[in-house]
Amino acid sequence: MSPHEHQFIDNEWVASASHQRLPVINPYTEALITEVTTGHPDDVDNAVGAAQRALPAWQGLSGAERGKYLEGFAEALSRRRDELARLSSINNGKVLAEAHIDLDDAIACYRYYANQARALDRRQGERVKLDMEGVEARCYHDPVGVVGLITPWNFPLVTSAWKLAPALAAGCTVVLKPSEVTPLPERALAEIALEIDLPAGVLNVLFGDGQGIGAPLAAHFDIDKISFTGSNRVGEAVMHAAADRTAGVSLELGGKSPIIVMEDADPERAADWVMAGIYLNAGQICSATSRLLVHKDVAEPLYAALAHRIDALVLGDPLVEDTDMGPLTSARQRDSVRGYLALAEQEGLVAVRDARHRTLPRHGYFLAPTLYRDVPTTSRLWQEEIFGPVLCARGIDDEAEAIRLANDSEFGLAATVVSGDPQRARRIARRLRAGSIWVNSEQLVLPQTGWGGFKRSGIGRELGPWGLAAFLAVKHLVGTADEG
Ligand code: NAD
Repeated sequence: MSPHEHQFIDNEWVASASHQRLPVINPYTEALITEVTTGHPDDVDNAVGAAQRALPAWQGLSGAERGKYLEGFAEALSRRRDELARLSSINNGKVLAEAHIDLDDAIACYRYYANQARALDRRQGERVKLDMEGVEARCYHDPVGVVGLITPWNFPLVTSAWKLAPALAAGCTVVLKPSEVTPLPERALAEIALEIDLPAGVLNVLFGDGQGIGAPLAAHFDIDKISFTGSNRVGEAVMHAAADRTAGVSLELGGKSPIIVMEDADPERAADWVMAGIYLNAGQICSATSRLLVHKDVAEPLYAALAHRIDALVLGDPLVEDTDMGPLTSARQRDSVRGYLALAEQEGLVAVRDARHRTLPRHGYFLAPTLYRDVPTTSRLWQEEIFGPVLCARGIDDEAEAIRLANDSEFGLAATVVSGDPQRARRIARRLRAGSIWVNSEQLVLPQTGWGGFKRSGIGRELGPWGLAAFLAVKHLVGTADEG
């Protein structure tokens, strides 16, 4: 039996109750890498049971003790950095250099929450300031309990780190469900759990699809909280399932983020940030700045600078050093983006660059990096998350229009503002409704700063102290003050 037919429950690899399998494909070669089980609701029952049994002892450890295990994850990931970056690249199609950045981000996240776990000890039992004589109140932070973590395929090791590290730091026990499209990188987390002697049942990893594992996990009565990253369609289903039993949810969902370039910006520098904001990971980034709002005075030089850079992008084997952009992660995602390109054709959108300007590699789920200009705000390409290498641009006349159009979206995950005047850039940024805003910067993502969306981009925040708070339940002890 292939090891991928197994589920990781109670620190053992066990067979799934399902006999059905799903192919795991290399998106560059289009060849089968392996197969995974679809998973089965019985697997969920078993994993949740293991996590429940493990909870009292895990929660009973000090934060400092739990922090040591988180350091263990960081060290193991560092040791296996090259191997795991390669595996991510093969499974996801992202270029190797970007896969290395994912590893760095994940390692930094486990380290950060190792420190947060230690700091939690100092916060336990803190006295609350009261304006009542003779009464004492103390505040404690308990774990919310057994948590279900569901992750997508675009940044497997990063999205799982943002959930797993704070959940373990808080003292929760976990059932993690990676995406069935990219199960291989997160499989390493189970291997690491064994390597670092994580107590049995603290981390359980279930492979499978939405039907076999995702939905039964979200609906499981003994899961105290679900933390989900993925599409709005599924996120809303997860929230419904949690509502049926009044369980908590954190949701990290889609985006249609703007990048604003004002007339006082240097078009060459702005072009670098525009490029990275949409063509990294072949545009499959939740925070992709996929709507470019450029002041009409700099629009032409910016489009020219972007066309030049797009032409220079090398598409090809993600494992080869010179490659700038790999394939999309699945045939399904490529076809979904193709649907938007067909719509653009029907709508008569004007392409600065598209498939007509390049020859694609002979195999792999590639799409040409595409830039449309003067896109009407009524176009579905302007409004909907495409999740591919497609940038929609339009001109603006002034700051007020930039802010109005930037905020004119059902999403609010991220934004970038580029201006030669830093004060003006910050003034614009303060008026945008989004969780992460980069001001004259590339998309820096730091474990100390929060991540999450306004509006339909989600509920709650990951990273920073907010990421830990998402897995903690506040408890107060109130009574007569100690004498003396
Ligand atoms: P998806 O919603 O299709 O799948 C996400 C996960 O949910 C997968 O593990 C999947 O198996 C599981 N799932 C499917 N059906 C389920 C169900 N009924 N119940 C429970 N789980 C179920 O999303 P995707 O295609 O893997 O990822 C792309 C989406 O993720 C994009 O919309 C992107 O914006 C979003 N995303 C958001 C962030 C963020 O931080 N906000 C980060 C990364 C990705």
